[in-house]
Amino acid sequence: MRTKSLIALLAASALALTACGGDDGAEPGTDDTAPVTSTDPMESPDEGSGDMTFEAGTTMAELSDAGTIQIGTKFDQPGFGLKGLSGGPEGFDVEVAKIIAGAMGITEDNIEWVETPSKVREEVIEQGKVDMVVATYTMNEKRAERIAFAGPYYMAGQQLMVAADDDTITGPESLMENPNAKVCSVTGSTPSEQIKEYLANDSQLVLFDVYDKCADALRTGQVQVVTTDNVILLGFVSESDGEFKLVGEQFTEEPYGIGIEKGDTAFCEFINETLQENEDAYNEAWSSTAGAVEGASPAELPEPEPCV
Ligand code: GLU
Repeated sequence: MRTKSLIALLAASALALTACGGDDGAEPGTDDTAPVTSTDPMESPDEGSGDMTFEAGTTMAELSDAGTIQIGTKFDQPGFGLKGLSGGPEGFDVEVAKIIAGAMGITEDNIEWVETPSKVREEVIEQGKVDMVVATYTMNEKRAERIAFAGPYYMAGQQLMVAADDDTITGPESLMENPNAKVCSVTGSTPSEQIKEYLANDSQLVLFDVYDKCADALRTGQVQVVTTDNVILLGFVSESDGEFKLVGEQFTEEPYGIGIEKGDTAFCEFINETLQENEDAYNEAWSSTAGAVEGASPAELPEPEPCV
């Protein structure tokens, strides 16, 4: 309970700062809005809802007025977005999303969580099915052709997971030497592409839509390796009761961003400012979720990339 009220307090103070800071910033991207008026947000209580004041026409104003938000996340990834039998998903991505929603005055029970497997993330944003995607989503140029990214809010890296008693696969270099070892990853993910240069042949790669199917396939011996980001794999290792382990070093960089509609620079800037201003809530979110898993390093909120 104390944590929740602390988050609420931090979110409220972030908002106050954002509202002040946002007023003097030019809005070059919003050419379709009404003529810019130089109103002081403190003097225009008709904008926004309650004590939340955002420039009319922005995504923040729309969402805060509606009081609800649709957020895409994973439902199968321990530590990031994992949905149990009852209630919404839990994990670091879920907590990061709550910080952002909270800064628009949207409470936890007014968030609609939408499961977004790796492959559909760009699509659900483009089609307006969600307002943002927080789902272990690596920022890269290819994806940025279709959507925009706020962040990064975390730096991960690709690694391999194998059965705890496997001494054959010790890193990505072992895959070429063991062409019969099947490697599982997820369709539409960066690891599924990046692993290809280490494989002896195409049939070595097995793709599913979500990572828990890869973990099941490793458990039953249908595949010998699962590859994705280290922090996702650590979640599966910690749930495996000693059955799985990570091997080798991380061999890519995966900066996690928050996917939003392409061109929404104001929303991107708002998200970046909100995270920078709520670093304590961010740290608490990490240490109570993915950061609580054995082997996880402390999270450090990275400097955001400029919004374009
Ligand atoms: N971060 C990688 C990606 O965005 C892998 C994790 C995932 O599939 O969500 O593709």
